[in-house]
Amino acid sequence: MKNRPRTRETKQRRVVYETIRNTYSHPTADWIFEQVRDTLPKVSLGTVYRNLGVLKDEGLVREIYGNDRRAHYDADISHHAHFICDLCDRIIDVRGVKNIDWRTLKDLVGCEVSDQNVVFSGRCAGCQQQEPKKA
Ligand SMILES: [Zn+2]
Ligand SMILES: [Zn+2]
Repeated sequence: MKNRPRTRETKQRRVVYETIRNTYSHPTADWIFEQVRDTLPKVSLGTVYRNLGVLKDEGLVREIYGNDRRAHYDADISHHAHFICDLCDRIIDVRGVKNIDWRTLKDLVGCEVSDQNVVFSGRCAGCQQQEPKKA
């Protein structure tokens, strides 16, 4: 059931959503909050978190957990995998990765799968140029 339209909340949600849509960096809530504050100076971090939750429930954004163990947000909900760099923690979109046929999982483990997230790890192109860290 939908509540009555509340214009202020609608505007906040739109700004939060546009902020995520305008970047490929898979930002955290803190980063989004800083950006949103430029447009809506009175917004609180709690409001940003609440809107992120709604956008996620509506299927407009995806959550990816980075090496920092924090949630990162992605407004690109088309099918794609992610690469997370072990060194700089950057989250990079990986396209063209085929889905695993998860229907067979039901036979294997009895679970009903509704989604799958593919995450690769290693060193990104930028970090490969750097000297490997000494142990
Ligand atoms: Zn890197
Ligand atoms: Zn992505």
